[in-house]
Amino acid sequence: MLRYIHLAMDECPKNLMEAARYFKDRNACIDLIAFLRWPQGVKCVHCGHDKCGFLKTRRIWKCAKCRKQFSVKTGTVLEDSPIPLDKWLVALWLIVNAKNGISSWEIHRSIGVTQKTAWFMLHRIRLAMQDDRKHLFGFGGPVESDETYIGPNPQKMHKDRKARIQARDGLKGGLVGKTAVHGMLDRELRQVRAQVVPNVKREVLQDAILDNVTPFAKVYTDEWSGYDGLGKKFVHEVVNHSMEYVKGQVHTQGIENFWSLLKRTLRGTYVAVEPFHLDRYVDEQVFRFNNRATKDNPIDDRDRFMLALTQISGKRITYKELTGKVPDNTTPEPPEIPF
Ligand SMILES: [Zn+2]
Repeated sequence: MLRYIHLAMDECPKNLMEAARYFKDRNACIDLIAFLRWPQGVKCVHCGHDKCGFLKTRRIWKCAKCRKQFSVKTGTVLEDSPIPLDKWLVALWLIVNAKNGISSWEIHRSIGVTQKTAWFMLHRIRLAMQDDRKHLFGFGGPVESDETYIGPNPQKMHKDRKARIQARDGLKGGLVGKTAVHGMLDRELRQVRAQVVPNVKREVLQDAILDNVTPFAKVYTDEWSGYDGLGKKFVHEVVNHSMEYVKGQVHTQGIENFWSLLKRTLRGTYVAVEPFHLDRYVDEQVFRFNNRATKDNPIDDRDRFMLALTQISGKRITYKELTGKVPDNTTPEPPEIPF
């Protein structure tokens, strides 16, 4: 597939200005996505066959074996989207490199799509930013484990609504209407894994740790009872937050720093964030945190963009799955979380 080989990394845009100019050419967009999806040459997305003809006028491939057609969008988060690739790629550039997140209103103004479309695009891009959840172990420690609650301020809630949510979730006081998130930070790898959890009970937290952390690694937590008994499988050390926040190496300040970044991104949120949506905001923040530039890892905007672009395949979310509704002109604007 000679037509892709010329596409060296150096040719790719290095900043937003260059990206907007470069991706104006639809063929450049297709070449880049195809190159990242099929570095060894295009393979049929339906049957895996490696002989596919490119129909230049329609910019799609046709498989020589199963005779089915496909585009670079087929089988990715971009599937079935009427939005042209140049807008997609510029939106992707913007979101992966926005330090504190970016709202659908900003995307709407920046690339000239409706706010509703921008909202949907952002959720699809967040799905691309999600890392592979099936990792077993990988975190060798020391690992900090902690949990946090995210959601509206119960003091600002109407009392009927508060009572209804309290009855539904069983959470009390300051936790009414909030969603639990569990996270782990590997200090050696300087990577975070975090996800929305149904609760912070022992079974939930310890299952997450067992899935991610190598047995007998050092695990640091606070004194929360959900971590009791962890010492059977790990070197578990506890910092008692009613006494102190740091006990030598034993602290959870790294993961707490991640929580404050996540909350800063979500700041100003007084709408109830459904756990279903919150998970994708967590994914977005994890991506940004794990791919931040450090002295040892001088990653730049282009690297982050390319990485996210390699993760668009094999994932899909429809408007209906996101909102429970079929899109039409009467659909109200989706809720926006103001950043
Ligand atoms: Zn095929």
